[in-house]
Order: sequence, then C-alpha cells, then structure tokens
Amino acid sequence: MKSVIFSRFFILLPWVLIVIIMIDIDTKRTFRSPMSARQRTQRTVASNLSTLPIIYAITPTYSRPVQKAELTRLAQAFRQVPRFHWIVVEDASSRSDLVTKFLARSGVSAYTHLHIFTPRRFKRAGMPRATEQRNVALTWLRQHRTKKDTGVVFFADDDNTYSLELFDEMRSTKGVSVWPVGFVGGRAYERPLVSGGKVVGWYTGWRPDRPFATDMAGFAVNLHVILSNPRAQFKRRGSQPGMQESDFLRQITTVSQLEPKAHNCTRVLVWHTRTEKPHLANEPKHRKDTLIIEV
Ligand code: UDP
Ligand code: MN
Repeated sequence: MKSVIFSRFFILLPWVLIVIIMIDIDTKRTFRSPMSARQRTQRTVASNLSTLPIIYAITPTYSRPVQKAELTRLAQAFRQVPRFHWIVVEDASSRSDLVTKFLARSGVSAYTHLHIFTPRRFKRAGMPRATEQRNVALTWLRQHRTKKDTGVVFFADDDNTYSLELFDEMRSTKGVSVWPVGFVGGRAYERPLVSGGKVVGWYTGWRPDRPFATDMAGFAVNLHVILSNPRAQFKRRGSQPGMQESDFLRQITTVSQLEPKAHNCTRVLVWHTRTEKPHLANEPKHRKDTLIIEV
C-alpha cells in the first residue's frame, strides 16, 4: 500500500512542479508593469542627452508669503526636464537663506542663483516688473557661455504654470520661437496667428498694435541669438506697461522670422496664472509658536 502511494506521488510530482512554475511565470507577467511611453521617451532622451541643447529658464523672484510655494511648484516641473539649467534671480540685495536652501534641495541639478535689488522708485503700479533681474541673467549667460555652447533661453516667471510639453516644444528653437499663453491679454489665451508656417499676426484682447503681442512666457530665444546681440536687454518704459516683450524682441528678431511652436500655435502649454494673496489677518506680528518654522 505504502509503495503504491509512493509511486503515485512520483508520477504526479513533475506535473505539480509544472503547474507551480506556470503560476509563477504568470504572476511575474501580471505584476511586471510595462514601460510607459514617457519612460521609453526618457530612456531615448537619456541615451542622446549630450546632444540636446540646454534650456536656460530665467526666473525672477521676490520675497513674499507665497514665494516658497511658488518655487516648489516650479521645481517639481523643472526637475523633470532633461538638460535644464535654472537661473533664479532674487529681487533682493543679497541671496536669501530661504532661496539658497530651497535650491539646494529642489531636485533641479543645474542652477545658478543670482540677485539684484530693484529700487523702490521702480516698483510703482503699472511699471514693468523684474526688468533688472532678467537683464542680470542675460549678462550672466554672456559672461559664462560661448558660441560653442548650445542652448535655448526662456523667461519663466515664478507664478506661472508650465506643462512639461512646453519644454519639448521650445528645445528646437533656432532663432526665436513663439506659442500661445493662457490667461493673458484679457482673454482665455493670446496666440500668434500662423499662415503657411509663418507668424502673420496676433490673436489678443489687448493692444493689438504691439509689434509682438505676446507675454514673457510666450517665447524662447536660442542662446546664440542672445550672445550675438550682446546689447539686447529689457528696458524700463514706465509709461508703456506691457511693452517689455515687444521692446526686447524687436532688438533681436522680426515677426516674419518667428518660429511657431505647439502645433502651429494652436495648443496652450503655459498659463499666466496669478496666485491669490493668502489671508494672514490673524497672524501675530511676532509669531507666538514655540518653534520657528519656515513657510
Ligand atoms: N517680481 C520681482 N520683483 C517684484 C515683483 C515681481 O522680481 O517686485 C517677479 C515675480 O516674482 C515674477 C515676475 O517678476 O517672477 C513677474 O511678476 P508678477 O508675476 O507679479 O507680474 P504679473 O504676472 O502680474 O505681470
Ligand atoms: Mn505673474
């Protein structure tokens, strides 16, 4: 009797093992998550990384309750962009501890931290903002980069909202490229009008007479254009709010040379969002908490 059970066991054993192996293969197949399209692109991008021009994003920023929250939102997008160099320019007389520590932990591997203080007399309502900060960043690029470097320069204010796709679009900028921007010009969006692959005008709700009716977030410039126009910079024209972009772009390009991006300027990939001031009416003059906590 014992030997019958024993021999049956040996006949069944290989089959039991086969079933166990098949179940094992099947669970592995089920739980091994397939590579996503984005992971595949990232892998391809990684293998060709050194050939991609670097995107230099210039961000002016100033101290206020929401500053760290704004920078956090930006960093979480920017750290995902390959070959990205963040130039952060504080509107301050020195580099602040908050921004210094923030950048070190931001996950953005390449960054430059600059500062320049805007005099109070330039901060009246209706005056263009962050002119000095953007110019300091341009000076830094002209002093630290040469014609041998490849790059694309973009002005990324600290309160806007950026789609990762925007960076894929601007990466191929040869001269100056343009695209739509959400929530500017008094409309849901403002955009360059494109015909036969060329910019022929602007869809905007505000001052359509502007030579370049675009927002600061609506264009990018090849680094070579910045370097070969060493005097091009942002100008203060107190009486002319909203002319900063046009005043800058007319120094380096013409409308007919502009390169339309984002599907011939039919997709919004950046939004001119503005952050509401937090209500701090109940915040005591001197914090009453037992700890000093950075916000
Ligand atoms: N900014 C600055 N100093 C200021 C005011 C603004 O450096 O005194 C920066 C701000 O952080 C942002 C850019 O300039 O990156 C544009 O400012 P803001 O977003 O207030 O302008 P708006 O979008 O309302 O035109
Ligand atoms: Mn803004």
